[in-house]
Amino acid sequence: MNYPPHISEKDGHLYIGEHDTNVLAEKYGTPLYVTDEQRIRDNYQSYYDALKGYYDKVQVLYAAKANGNLAVMKIFASLGAGADIFSAGELHLALAAGMNPDYLLYNGSSKTTEDLSLALEKKIRVSLDSVDELRQLSAIAQDAGVTAEVSFRVNPAMEVPTHPKIATGLATSKFGIHAGEIVSAYQAAMDAENILPVGIHCHIGSQILEVAPFAKEAEVLISVASEITDIGVKLRFMDVGGGLGIPYHHDTDPVPTPAEYADAVMPVFLDGINSIGIKPEFWVEPGRFLMADSTVLLTRVNSVKQSHKKFVNVDAGFNLLARPAMYDSYHEVVVANKTGPDYADDAKRDVMTVTGPICETGDILAHDRLLPAVESGDLIAVLDTGAYGFSMSSQYNSRPRCAEVMVNGSQEGLMRRRESIIDIKQTMKDLPWQK
Ligand SMILES: *Cc1c(COP(=O)(O)O)cnc(C)c1O
Repeated sequence: MNYPPHISEKDGHLYIGEHDTNVLAEKYGTPLYVTDEQRIRDNYQSYYDALKGYYDKVQVLYAAKANGNLAVMKIFASLGAGADIFSAGELHLALAAGMNPDYLLYNGSSKTTEDLSLALEKKIRVSLDSVDELRQLSAIAQDAGVTAEVSFRVNPAMEVPTHPKIATGLATSKFGIHAGEIVSAYQAAMDAENILPVGIHCHIGSQILEVAPFAKEAEVLISVASEITDIGVKLRFMDVGGGLGIPYHHDTDPVPTPAEYADAVMPVFLDGINSIGIKPEFWVEPGRFLMADSTVLLTRVNSVKQSHKKFVNVDAGFNLLARPAMYDSYHEVVVANKTGPDYADDAKRDVMTVTGPICETGDILAHDRLLPAVESGDLIAVLDTGAYGFSMSSQYNSRPRCAEVMVNGSQEGLMRRRESIIDIKQTMKDLPWQK
């Protein structure tokens, strides 16, 4: 199997960076997420450099929902990134990580008045998702005696080649305002008290492995930019969102590079702004591309069972990695203590289905994989789990969430401790009528 450069096999063991996954699993226990800091930095640099090659005013806003660990946010802050934030929690973490408030954008289709007030208090720009929300923000800004800088989220009404649950730019999606109504929304923002429209925002979906849809999106945004410039909006940024995918099937998926992305999108953007005669900043909000392949989920084999299939029962399930159950998504799995030539012979391999410990039939991490003969006690690594992995985890079945470790060169450290039963119990209350 092809691996990204930070994943390798040595003496029969799977390594991440300089670290033997078996040693980390032994030291920190399983299940365990392990992330390679250098890989995050390299992914960021390739994305940023590709865009910067075309235009000097480029800003990356890391999509915090992909992985909201403070240690991860600090890496992005140190690289100069801001963040696409969707909640008060993500806002708090972005500021705690030291990100520049100028490069935070408060997104989301359903914000509370507390969310909007918090954004104003922290001087964070808001991406509005409806004219109703504009009205509410205007009222809050008037009360506070401040001006709120905003963008609108545009619904480009685009079909994109990805799983329907992560296509966000469809005409039928809950997100954004349709192109046909967007100019009147901006007009309403121009007319509203204490509101200044300064940006335009869009995000067409996630895990997109072709670059053509992003060029199409840029065309839609440029045409909106042109129309709203005509009514007097002074655009300071155009935010095209995220969505570039990664090759979860290592050997067969296409591998779209940030350079290909930039080659498709930037000429459309540059021609567009030149003909309009504006020079807004170009913002992007990648999440998955920056984080996904930085991380492996290590999970121990509890037992093996020959039923109508061969099941490998491991200690991590959709409580820790929801993507396979939620989106039918594919992750490569490797038996981390049985790699290399000794185990390469297909005749000694078997087709196995890797299942978690959750009380649900759908708790399957990987279907029908050809793996070396697995026994209880073996260690399985689920690859490419750095985006929408831990961040979507739950305590279902009253299972404490697992720990997260970061490695960086020869260093390694906990970035989140394992939860305990006490963590699960501590928010529960004794009812007065139950003694
Ligand atoms: C989820 C999301 C992103 C990131 O998407 P990726 O596919 O992880 O790059 C960016 N912007 C918005 C508004 C999002 O909701």
